[in-house]
Amino acid sequence: MVARLRVLVAALVLTMSAGLAAAQTTAEPIRYTLSFPAPHTHYIEVAASVPTGRQPQIELMMAVWTPGSYLVREFSRHVEAVTATGADGRPLEIDKSEKNRWRVATGGAPTVTVRYRVYARELTMRTNWVDTDFALINGAPTFITLADLTPRPHEVIINPAPAWRRSVTGLPDMSGGEHRYRAPDYDTLIDSPIALGNPSVREFSVDGKRHALATIGGTVAFDEARAARDFEKVVREHLRLWGALPYDKYLMLNILTETPTGGLEHRNSAVLVLNRWVGTPRAYLSWLGYVSHEHFHAWNVKRLRPVELGPFEYENEVYTRSLWIAEGITEYYSHLTLHRAGLSSREELLDVLSSEIERLQTGPGRLVRSTADASFDAWIKYYRPDENSVNSSVDYYTKGVVLGLLLDARIRRATGGARSLDNVMRAAYQTYSGPRGYTPDQFRGVAEQVAGLSLQSFWDAAVDGTAELDYTDLVEAFGIRFQATAPSGRAWLGIATRNDAGRLVVSQVRRGTPAYAAGLNVDDEILAINDFRVRADQLNTRLEQYKPGETVMLLIARREQVRRIEVAFAEEPPRQWRLEVHPSATDAQQRQRTRWLQPDA
Ligand SMILES: [Zn+2]
Repeated sequence: MVARLRVLVAALVLTMSAGLAAAQTTAEPIRYTLSFPAPHTHYIEVAASVPTGRQPQIELMMAVWTPGSYLVREFSRHVEAVTATGADGRPLEIDKSEKNRWRVATGGAPTVTVRYRVYARELTMRTNWVDTDFALINGAPTFITLADLTPRPHEVIINPAPAWRRSVTGLPDMSGGEHRYRAPDYDTLIDSPIALGNPSVREFSVDGKRHALATIGGTVAFDEARAARDFEKVVREHLRLWGALPYDKYLMLNILTETPTGGLEHRNSAVLVLNRWVGTPRAYLSWLGYVSHEHFHAWNVKRLRPVELGPFEYENEVYTRSLWIAEGITEYYSHLTLHRAGLSSREELLDVLSSEIERLQTGPGRLVRSTADASFDAWIKYYRPDENSVNSSVDYYTKGVVLGLLLDARIRRATGGARSLDNVMRAAYQTYSGPRGYTPDQFRGVAEQVAGLSLQSFWDAAVDGTAELDYTDLVEAFGIRFQATAPSGRAWLGIATRNDAGRLVVSQVRRGTPAYAAGLNVDDEILAINDFRVRADQLNTRLEQYKPGETVMLLIARREQVRRIEVAFAEEPPRQWRLEVHPSATDAQQRQRTRWLQPDA
């Protein structure tokens, strides 16, 4: 509790100074040197020169999580061989004081050198990777700092492995040669990943600001020139929407791999770790979606943020009920931007929005958990999904997209198209960006002011509650409709399965399905239906032999024991959430739709 308060006080000082020139930070810098003498062993060698203020003892810490990814990841588990020496090179006593903290007896030395190794072989946007080809260095899992978090510069000097020609990062350069960077404070250091190796870099300028797309791991399937052109279109659309670019330079760090994990936003950069096979239009559009999403975050969340998301407590969870705004609305605009920028067709946009609505509306957890609560519990639920997540919670990305869409439609309908969610985001940015942050009520206040009406019932039902959503505004505002498929007449169990070396194994059982009612469990192996063997690739054709309402006996194996379960099939539900343009939309609806999709038209 004491440690927590101390961090908070130091962090408050940080916020107040944020936005002021770095020159006002007078504290001595911490200087890190990163070396990679044996990259094939996946280690970063760190030497940190740490000013002590001549205190007899200093306390050091490493962050346990990284902003934007709400899970305690215990980064210090990859730290090894921590030693400390004084100015004369003599070893100093250093003890582990907490899971992520170390205490150094300085012997009165003005500066101590702390050396340690970080094992780096987890290729995601929030962790570290080192091999002979390249390195991805994220701040939180790499840099040990003074635990009091007194504002001070953090300098980074990199000795790349011989085969690596380049380092790319959003960090400001430091004079004195290549691979030298200086963060004005710890927050900036943590917020500025570094990539080393031989990335292919494409640059362009928008509004006088330099942008770079740095790609590692590209193949012929990835057309870098086209990708940079399309990234520029995204930037230009975001500039049109927000009115100004909020950074001096921007780096999109694009790591293409066979094990994609996603993207992570920073103030003037983003890391993508995505599928390298983006040769099909659909896969490429998905890649562009990440670009659009992470770049939109440069405004929404990195500068216009829920009040709880800064200054960060790096050693504890930070709870917010507003991730549906920070993530969901960002994802809504990620889709909308691609269409507005001419990168996806109207049908592709309606298709992706339909998929989001369908995912929400077919997840039983939507009736159990509100999106505000799901946001609060991101740390223990969203980032720790299990086989029952679909029944017990709601995805604040998915529901956030749908809420953004409905809010947009509500405001446009209420104002006859004069105002929209675009106005809400701009107004919220003007009022709450920078050090302030917004509370849920403040964001709602902005939306109501723009809409010119109370949205209380919307917040109560759709954000804080679990009521079914009302799509009337959406279809009425834009002259679109949901087109349901015809009843299939097919027998349906309501399970998802996986093929486990030819064995048919249940991977998910949704609440409200025949399988759920009959007591079929995740990890049950289905051996036979009515005493006839069924294998992993035969379930669909076998189900075609039965009719809704028929009862069958399943032979299953559960924890090595064979047993029988009787189950009555239901009818496979029709797909009812596919959006399409209404053929008899009114002129007013068509105008409204055009203004939504092409605000400049
Ligand atoms: Zn995001």
